[in-house]
Amino acid sequence: MSKKKEYIKQWIRSHPQIRIYFNKEEHETIKQIAKEKKLSFKQIFLKGIEYLKGESEEYKKGYNEGYEKGRNSGYAAALLDIREGNKYAEERLKILGLEFIPCIVCGKPLYGLVVPKEISNKIKEFAYKSGWTHVKCPIL
Ligand SMILES: [Zn+2]
Repeated sequence: MSKKKEYIKQWIRSHPQIRIYFNKEEHETIKQIAKEKKLSFKQIFLKGIEYLKGESEEYKKGYNEGYEKGRNSGYAAALLDIREGNKYAEERLKILGLEFIPCIVCGKPLYGLVVPKEISNKIKEFAYKSGWTHVKCPIL
């Protein structure tokens, strides 16, 4: 086998492939994000991993700023709890008959967007179709 072929074989072995199937809507959303942010699919995927590991600079900055702002305000603190996925805070919202609208990219609540439960499904559907995301979504 030639050196070039051997090198290619070795490269493929050390760079495992991941194949992901998306539905058309998900695929369109990712394509749109890639175009707008000038990122490859791989870069979007790696940013998502960075975010999930809590290593992204945007995530840390946003978390620290939000934490400082919300610390002395009960209402803001409750919203922050929801943003961080606090189930108790979500339960409190439910008791009030309210629901948050999730970002279509990261799934976390869109900031300050809480709606009555009776209309939340329609708004979620609209948000999804319209591609509502955080202005500075930590995943992007
Ligand atoms: Zn987001």
